[in-house]
Amino acid sequence: MAIKSIRARENQRKYQKEWQQRNRIRLNEKSRERLKNFQDNHGFSYTTHLTRKYKMEIFAFLLNRCTKCRILDKRLLQIHHVNGGGTKERNGLDYLTYYRKILRELQNGSKEYQLLCANCHILVDLEGYYL
Ligand SMILES: [Zn+2]
Repeated sequence: MAIKSIRARENQRKYQKEWQQRNRIRLNEKSRERLKNFQDNHGFSYTTHLTRKYKMEIFAFLLNRCTKCRILDKRLLQIHHVNGGGTKERNGLDYLTYYRKILRELQNGSKEYQLLCANCHILVDLEGYYL
């Protein structure tokens, strides 16, 4: 019984893969059309939508406030890398990939990230610099 259902599932996957291969051009046109419709309806791209969504999920994960002064204004909040290396990590990545990576790491229990407001962020980064 179990073997039969595994085989049936394998056959279904194989059929789906072949169907997608046969209909690839049509599917690409459909997905391009869907993306264009999204852009027309919202005034920004689907990629922008996902980027904002991941950023807001990161903010929610980190309690939507500055770790130091507790300010709640999202316009001021930035993602701080506790052990440094933020610029290096962001370089070479688009924001969608960057935010998705951070969100995954947070969901896997990473303590590498904090939310800081712009003022607290610059103070933390310059700690000891003017002494
Ligand atoms: Zn702050």
